[in-house]
Amino acid sequence: MSSHILVSFLLLVFSFAYSNDSKVLHIFYHHISYVDHKYNRKPYHFEDDMRELKIKDFKTISLTEYAEFLKGTRNIPKRSVLISFDDGYADAIDNAVPIMGKYKFNGIFFVIGQMVKSERRGGYCSLADLKKLVASGHDVQSHTWSHKDLAKIGHWSVWDKELGIVKMFLEGELGIRVHAISYPYGSINKKVIPKIAEYNYDIGFTCRNGLNDISTNPYLGCRDEVSISNPVKKILSFYQKNYPEWFN
Ligand SMILES: [Zn+2]
Repeated sequence: MSSHILVSFLLLVFSFAYSNDSKVLHIFYHHISYVDHKYNRKPYHFEDDMRELKIKDFKTISLTEYAEFLKGTRNIPKRSVLISFDDGYADAIDNAVPIMGKYKFNGIFFVIGQMVKSERRGGYCSLADLKKLVASGHDVQSHTWSHKDLAKIGHWSVWDKELGIVKMFLEGELGIRVHAISYPYGSINKKVIPKIAEYNYDIGFTCRNGLNDISTNPYLGCRDEVSISNPVKKILSFYQKNYPEWFN
């Protein structure tokens, strides 16, 4: 094979590898328990959600894979999904993790740094819970140190705590890389994004509905919140109607 043909061949391979039409659905939850509350999903409803994703052949991907996909350096499954849990509630770990295991899905737990203690307290998970999650292939990332509305922060020391200390704490305790954040209340403005980058986060998620694809701004990822009035089945049928080719 001449070098000219080899180069053309490699270019062809690369263009196939990195120009795919994959989209990433990101669904998120808070509590997973039997309590009646708008921020709660009952375990059997959560199982319905996971089953729907399985039937439609969705695959969970890691946040590292997601970040590389947005940079255009990684191929991911056509129907990729991120399943996340905000705030770090113990009930989400107890009830969602075994169900996700059954369907071979991995989750992302965006935790509030200051609520994570050596023992479970106030319904929040413990450090031991997070260590177990990481050991079993789930991801733990930042939901800030104290759940402050980032769009309202003024003083530098608050940025340091909300974005820096939480990262140092989780990285030190869990031996992971903290590079993603879900913004409390989904709240963000123009001055927040440079701060997120300054503290070495490469991925951020709002609460704006929508699918993520190669054109998504890494700091403005979309997520769909699952609830009793918005189950995964409804979310998928909405996207199937609007993006039929995504389901082929
Ligand atoms: Zn929150």
